[in-house]
Amino acid sequence: MNTGKKNNKEGWQQALQNAIRSPKELLKTLELEPKNTQAYDPKRTEFPLLVPHSFVKRMRKRDPKDPLLLQVLPTKKEQLSVPGFTRNPLLETSFITNGVVKKYLSRALLLATEACPVHCRYCFRRFFPYSNNLASTGNWENALAELGNTDETREVILSGGDPLSLSNRRLEELITKIELLKNITTLRVHTRFPVILPNRVDNGLLKLFSRKKLKIVVVIHSNHAQEIDESVYDSMQALSSTGTHLFNQSVLLRDVNDNASQLEALSRKLFESSVIPYYLNILDPVEGSAHFEVDINKAKQLIKELRQRLPGYLVPRLVREIPGELSKKIIA
Ligand SMILES: *Cc1c(COP(=O)(O)O)cnc(C)c1O
Ligand code: SF4
Repeated sequence: MNTGKKNNKEGWQQALQNAIRSPKELLKTLELEPKNTQAYDPKRTEFPLLVPHSFVKRMRKRDPKDPLLLQVLPTKKEQLSVPGFTRNPLLETSFITNGVVKKYLSRALLLATEACPVHCRYCFRRFFPYSNNLASTGNWENALAELGNTDETREVILSGGDPLSLSNRRLEELITKIELLKNITTLRVHTRFPVILPNRVDNGLLKLFSRKKLKIVVVIHSNHAQEIDESVYDSMQALSSTGTHLFNQSVLLRDVNDNASQLEALSRKLFESSVIPYYLNILDPVEGSAHFEVDINKAKQLIKELRQRLPGYLVPRLVREIPGELSKKIIA
């Protein structure tokens, strides 16, 4: 379990405050020469670097190709303009009312907050206009009205940003309100926190997830086996012991996880930690992320290899998001 710091329920908030926010500091911590990395420092308003020390500790020192580093370090490659890579790749804003994304029939996605524990350079919401599209506006009431007004909607997905950026008190407030909606049976949380800052899984959160009115599903977001150390393992065990169902989604990223051995290792590591691989997403074509793109035929070939190496339940579904479709498109 989450040992230590028992009475300090804001340990994770402190860790976020102390997070690294400049390439210079990150490279120094990793004993890297800036000239070997193409690093650059985006303006504060333009998706700056953000990564907590807990995640940096899992990076290899003096390795400019470390797969965890590549996910968070802004490089000059982001400044290339590449046809097809846009600021609004999923046209999401056209499906949002009062902070609720209703693209699919039985589940609705609630944009709970714009805050994240880390800034992932490939994030498809890196240019997202959060300020007019958050469900938290007006103390959730308008968002909840969207969720309660169709019997079709059975599942609420908390997204963002990262919904676990909300304090336990705020989450409790929201969950209590969702529990009152008769049509909702399942609460799903999409989060990178358990991987980036595992001490976010504190006693307060575990208590919230132990409530039995809703089925709770947590989808973590890990891209590489090296991300899953003992602290992540422990937070997964703790979540699992509350009866929470645990899944993982990854994004297929060039030079980070685009080979069969690495994807195999990730699936095995996840399973060891009681997490089932769910989706392997094709990169959404957001501006500044083209250098992460993996050829689609290579992606299909990787899944084929995984099917030979792993039991079926450890092979994630290769999916792509297509604006306007009623579900994600399964490619393989
Ligand atoms: C991916 C996604 C979901 C959840 O889809 P599942 O296939 O049920 O995992 C819901 N809403 C939006 C907008 C999504 O992109
Ligand atoms: S945690 Fe999720 S929402 Fe936040 S930057 Fe990373 S991918 Fe984007």
